[in-house]
Amino acid sequence: MSAQLILQAGKEKSLLRHHPWIFAGSVAGFEGRARPGDTVDVVAGGGRYAGQVLAKAAFSPASQIRARVWSFDPAETVDHAFFKRRIAAAVARRAALPELAGQDGVRLVHAESDGLPGLIADRYRDKDGGDTVVVQLTSAGADKWRDAIADSLQKATGCSRIYDRSDSEVRAREGLEPQSGWLLGEGDPRIVIDEHGVRMAVDVATGHKTGFYLDQRENRLMLRGLAAGRRVLNCYCYTGGFSLQALAGGAREVISVDSSAPALALAAENLALNPQLDASRAEWLDANVSEELRRRRDANETFDLIVLDPPKFAPSAAHVERASRAYKDINLNAFKLLAPGGLLMTYSCSGGIGAELFQQIVTAAALDARRDAAIVKRLQGAADHPVALTFPEGEYLKGLLVQAT
Ligand code: SAH
Repeated sequence: MSAQLILQAGKEKSLLRHHPWIFAGSVAGFEGRARPGDTVDVVAGGGRYAGQVLAKAAFSPASQIRARVWSFDPAETVDHAFFKRRIAAAVARRAALPELAGQDGVRLVHAESDGLPGLIADRYRDKDGGDTVVVQLTSAGADKWRDAIADSLQKATGCSRIYDRSDSEVRAREGLEPQSGWLLGEGDPRIVIDEHGVRMAVDVATGHKTGFYLDQRENRLMLRGLAAGRRVLNCYCYTGGFSLQALAGGAREVISVDSSAPALALAAENLALNPQLDASRAEWLDANVSEELRRRRDANETFDLIVLDPPKFAPSAAHVERASRAYKDINLNAFKLLAPGGLLMTYSCSGGIGAELFQQIVTAAALDARRDAAIVKRLQGAADHPVALTFPEGEYLKGLLVQAT
């Protein structure tokens, strides 16, 4: 029999609404023995379901999220076949979305929102070398099922290589050591993918996340449509995704800023991979964005189009206040740099900052910059980064396209 995790009375409510997290403070007791990552029965401690098993969940004694639900069906067994079913279903859902058709880089599994807490899987298709899937296991439960997950991904995609990028800092909270390397196949970790007709090198071993920010794929395409004839400032450019799309869209000039030398080196290589683009219009700057914005503001420069895609300033709710100030500061200076009629594409990927708060921050920034502006579009992650209706935490990326008067 599985070990049982007994909930405090009343704490079954979020489970009945199919929210997949069980916090340490919701647990009343434990019966039986379980090691980290083992599947346990989650039992209601009170209310009309008292004593009933409500879910099967992965136990994580080190984490504040003490268990993550694999299944809300108490009769479902969590085994190799379970992962095969869930992963095949996630892959099939992507295949049914026209937006993703023909894309080389696609997120196949988006953790909780695909019913697989702690599992990220991205596929990169190299025109010459077949498919490479990169996995990131961030919970004790997902970590325990590594072999079943790798096998299921291979079967669902037919990929020839799988790389494990389980080196994210969040693993420490689950009591897990970093782990990375090939799980299937081997060879060059650098893959060249095509995104909207632009070639981009992705290093799955050393790049950020699994190598590339797939969540911004559609937004990069939108930027391309806005770029013609404009002077563009791309802040936090990473390997140049937005920059190269701006060039492809006919931007007059594209200045890109990042503080990571390896990211900028790859950005320059990416530009060289695309001889169809006019490299003389691109400039790459190794600098701190906050300082660079201030410097250009003091020099009274103007831009027609500015992208702000900073890293997570608020990884959790505890950082919200400081992060809000940081977001406001960069947005304020961006507003000051906007030419009349100019466009600001601004993002937050912080889980701790909701869409409403982000809009308030951008509003405060515009007011302080003495600029009138209006939202012309709300932006989010691409379709392969779905947000389960029962898991609003999955909506980490929010953006606004704002036009100044
Ligand atoms: N827009 C990019 C992804 C941006 S990720 C894309 O579409 O691919 C955030 C980037 O911000 C990272 O490349 C990181 O190196 C950079 N970064 C973090 N802090 C920074 C700072 N203070 N100044 C400049 N760049 C910074």
